[in-house]
Amino acid sequence: MDPTPIQRLPRYIALALFTLCACSPQPAGDILLITVDTLRPDHLGLYGYERAASPNIDHHFSDAAIFERAYATNANTSPSIASILTGQLPHEHGVRKFYQLVSDDVRLVTDLLPAAYQTAAFVSSIVLTDEAMGMARHFDHYDDHVDEVASNLRIFERKGSRTTDAALLWIAEHRDPERPLFLWMHYMDPHPPYQPPSPEYASFEHEGFVKFDRKRINPYQLEPGVDDALDYVDRYDEEIAHMDTAVGRLLTGYGVQRELDEALLIFVADHGESMLERERWFTHGYQVFEEIIRVPLMIRGPGVEPGRRDALVSGIDLVPTILHFAGARPDTALNGVALQQRTAIPKDRTVFAEGGGGKSLIRAAIRNDQKWVAKAGAGKKKTRSRWHFDLGADPAEQKPQPWDPSNPEEVARELIDLFDRDPDPGGLPKGFREGLRIDAPKVAPRADAETIERLRALGYVE
Ligand SMILES: [Zn+2]
Repeated sequence: MDPTPIQRLPRYIALALFTLCACSPQPAGDILLITVDTLRPDHLGLYGYERAASPNIDHHFSDAAIFERAYATNANTSPSIASILTGQLPHEHGVRKFYQLVSDDVRLVTDLLPAAYQTAAFVSSIVLTDEAMGMARHFDHYDDHVDEVASNLRIFERKGSRTTDAALLWIAEHRDPERPLFLWMHYMDPHPPYQPPSPEYASFEHEGFVKFDRKRINPYQLEPGVDDALDYVDRYDEEIAHMDTAVGRLLTGYGVQRELDEALLIFVADHGESMLERERWFTHGYQVFEEIIRVPLMIRGPGVEPGRRDALVSGIDLVPTILHFAGARPDTALNGVALQQRTAIPKDRTVFAEGGGGKSLIRAAIRNDQKWVAKAGAGKKKTRSRWHFDLGADPAEQKPQPWDPSNPEEVARELIDLFDRDPDPGGLPKGFREGLRIDAPKVAPRADAETIERLRALGYVE
């Protein structure tokens, strides 16, 4: 067989050409993806909260693109985080449950980025450990130590301050200065139970009184001696304040070595949390009300148009945004859109969100200010209840309206189609691989005195 033209060239020229062709454009720079568990947008200063629960985040993201209507794809951590990392809806990436391993054919953003990227993750939740979800193989470094039992239900977490410590130590000692960095941080502090590490963090106090009702909250949220439900809101905000300090230290510490303004910074939550809006207090997972599925989303960095945005956006938009920044073209079809430019987001798009607790799947389709909701039993495709909210006239979702089944609107039909196309009816995965619930906590390496000294010399620790 005749040699191809490239084979006839001297080897060094052919190699140089190959290198030119095979590589995507020079990667743009570092990417910091910060996800926070259970964080409502309306408890952050940049989203109008009157309490000073988030001074560091407010400072670092004041010039960001601030998305006022961002939705999680799912009201539970594992499916929502899998969407943020894959750019796919839960029925596409397949993660529907806690302790379900990501299947081998699923590719995360780290697999789609140019090979030049060094990739590291620091997570704080038991459900994101490698044993639980099996994602470590997609990162050069995956630190998933969780070392505190947050409740008698053995919800293990790592406090945000210690997750930041672990990341700063790794950055000082292992980050390759020749390579751009993709860093994913997951902070769990605002997740129940609300147990802030007081008294070092701001202690919030409220006016008024709401009689505590133990029937309305999960047993693991019960705190002895509390008879005012508003105390729980104070504790939730103190957890946010702790997380905020940890995020501030991370960004300041990162800035010691690299220029923060040259990096793409994304701040997002995996889902929200109910406060006192309706029957169930201080929870998430089972419902798709706005307080549960709306999340804060802020993005800043080169190429990002700052300012407030009211377009509907979703967790599936973050992978396209990251790949756009890195100059990488995904070889798979992604339904999300890169969010850098205001005009790139279609005006009348539909976003989907879901929730469920194993017995049923509840789904919402939102377009403009209209929201359609339907529910199916586990293992069943057929929806058994359907309702509709006009978010413009009824933003608190107090007046559900029935669908007209004889004449469903286009978006309602899209929602029913989604149930039909779902390979796991009712959100119940068939033949999934179960991850391991870890019974013994993995203890995070604590910084020894010498390391602390070294970090201090580098300017990481005051
Ligand atoms: Zn979560």
